Amino acid sequence: MAENPFFAPSSLPYRLPPFDEIREEHYLPAFERGMAEHLAEVEAIAGSDEPPTFDNTIAALERSGRILDRTATVFFSVAASNTSDTLMEIEKRVSPELTRHSDAIRLDRALWARIKRVTTDDPEQAWLLEKYREDFIRAGADLTEPEQERLRGLNEELSRLSTEFSQNLLKASTESALVVDDAAELDGLDEAAIRSLEKNGRYVLPLLNITNQPALAQLTDRDVRRRLFELSVGRAPVNFGLAVRMATLRAERAALLGFPDHASYVVADQTAKTVAAVEEMLGQLVGPAVRNAKAEAEALAGQAGFPIEPWDWSYYAEKVRRARYDFDADAMRPYFELGRVFRDGVFEAATRLYGVTFTERPDLSGYHEDVRVFEVFDEDGSALGLFLLDPYARPGKRGGAWMNNLVDQSFLFGEKPVVMNNLNITKPAEGPTLLSYDEVNTAFHEFGHALHGLFSAVRFPRVSGTSVPRDFVEYPSQVNEMWVTWPEILASYARHHETGEPMPAELVEKLKAAERFNQGFRTVEYLAATLLDWAWHRLAPGQEVPDAEAFEQAALEAAGIAFPPVPPRYRTSYFMHIFSGGYSAGYYSYIWSEVLDAESVEWFKENGGLKRANGDHFRRELLSRGGSVDPLASFRAFRGREPGIGPLLERRGLV
Ligand SMILES: [Zn+2]
Repeated sequence: MAENPFFAPSSLPYRLPPFDEIREEHYLPAFERGMAEHLAEVEAIAGSDEPPTFDNTIAALERSGRILDRTATVFFSVAASNTSDTLMEIEKRVSPELTRHSDAIRLDRALWARIKRVTTDDPEQAWLLEKYREDFIRAGADLTEPEQERLRGLNEELSRLSTEFSQNLLKASTESALVVDDAAELDGLDEAAIRSLEKNGRYVLPLLNITNQPALAQLTDRDVRRRLFELSVGRAPVNFGLAVRMATLRAERAALLGFPDHASYVVADQTAKTVAAVEEMLGQLVGPAVRNAKAEAEALAGQAGFPIEPWDWSYYAEKVRRARYDFDADAMRPYFELGRVFRDGVFEAATRLYGVTFTERPDLSGYHEDVRVFEVFDEDGSALGLFLLDPYARPGKRGGAWMNNLVDQSFLFGEKPVVMNNLNITKPAEGPTLLSYDEVNTAFHEFGHALHGLFSAVRFPRVSGTSVPRDFVEYPSQVNEMWVTWPEILASYARHHETGEPMPAELVEKLKAAERFNQGFRTVEYLAATLLDWAWHRLAPGQEVPDAEAFEQAALEAAGIAFPPVPPRYRTSYFMHIFSGGYSAGYYSYIWSEVLDAESVEWFKENGGLKRANGDHFRRELLSRGGSVDPLASFRAFRGREPGIGPLLERRGLV
């Protein structure tokens, strides 16, 4: 084998991983060597004869494990976006090994004893030192040997189950696809969409990883809608068993670490801090949200002439939306061409706010031919980093949209950020890629995360960019959504793909009016998923769950959110975020972050909106700080006050 590309730093600009050289057979040897090298480095730090200092202990840990870092970053990025049977096998094998590896470091007694003796007067170092202490204590550094032994076992099993959960789901998205023989059954979908679903004379509509499949808004055949819905909520039933097992193991682990349940353990190092704070917040939202959804259901039943079933909701919502607002979501698509949405929308908003500019680098490439690479420059022309965009859905890509880092910004290594956005837009068989309004919104959202990564200006990789608490990380990305309908930005990107005509003013007005429509549905489906996550992770240690589906139903009822026409956005069996995505007891984060988001949008509006000075203020106080300071302190520095829930209630129509 030629030299493994992971063994040395990339020689490409910005240390972009050399995707052209990386082969599947490079991963395992790189993981093995990376873990071995990392352990040797850590042992040298722990066994040093010198008195512990910040530099020879904490900074040394920050400098360690470079091969492993490079390998894991690329591997998990490709495994999420363009996986294969081989990569799935590797993932299955290395996930528990990585867990063992991180336990070996965090449970190293000599290392922990050394960390406890480090002192520093520098505020940025002191903050990082505190992070390290928290990380070690939360990982079980202070437990006895037998307790640590049990903890290692729990972590390994959890990591194995989590991989299994997501791999089952990837299979289910095609295995549970809706298959019809006759294109007439798909009446309502547009012709190009139907053509792209054709496979060997049949039509296959794969499931997206949410309950409410987008096609439910269009399919005119009620029975086909019912079948699609039932496939959606019934997928991957094997995952119910895994979920029960995971929730039980997490409760046991929380008890080992001195917490009453997994949720308490999780929120302790978030900005929420306590389960009571989260429950108080959710409690204020449930009643008004359900009332809203019930009123909406009545309006829909009026339109349909019968009580609304969950598979009818989107279909009749679309009809009511058209009747009430004379609004046709499909009429917008021709104005949302992918390339233009980015160039004249997403990028343009960033240019006007922060002065940054974008140049495509066709000479650089990702792991797939559809990935585009852009170089990002600051206003003074200095290089800021790289932005990669992987817009299209493909069979080996997991559902949803996300941002990830390929290189973390840090002054320690003198490295600039390389960040990436993944979307799941259906690639048309031919012609331009036209987006839905929701997809445009997602593009701005994910780019908000990208800016958080790109503007990072911190010393240490551990706190770079988006390395902030989960209940804070969605805040900057949500703020970036405010530019989707900002008049100058919308006028710039929303142009007809054939004629170049701007979107008609009345369509824009209708869009804004219709935005407030269906908020009851959106809030309830989100809260139901949140409360489901919460119920699984407030399980007491030792509490048994004989029937996962009954548990699910009881949890929704107990929380006052059970309303059959609006099922949770995710059911347990396909709730990736919490059983495979690091959001366990953390799905509340979106609405928690939205409190800060709504406050910040208000600030921008009070201060003249889309202006360089406003962007600079947000960038300086918030986006550039990464996790290097207390996140709520940076919010206060930006907003000038403590956050309140008022702007959020207003926005969601819940006052
Ligand atoms: Zn996000």
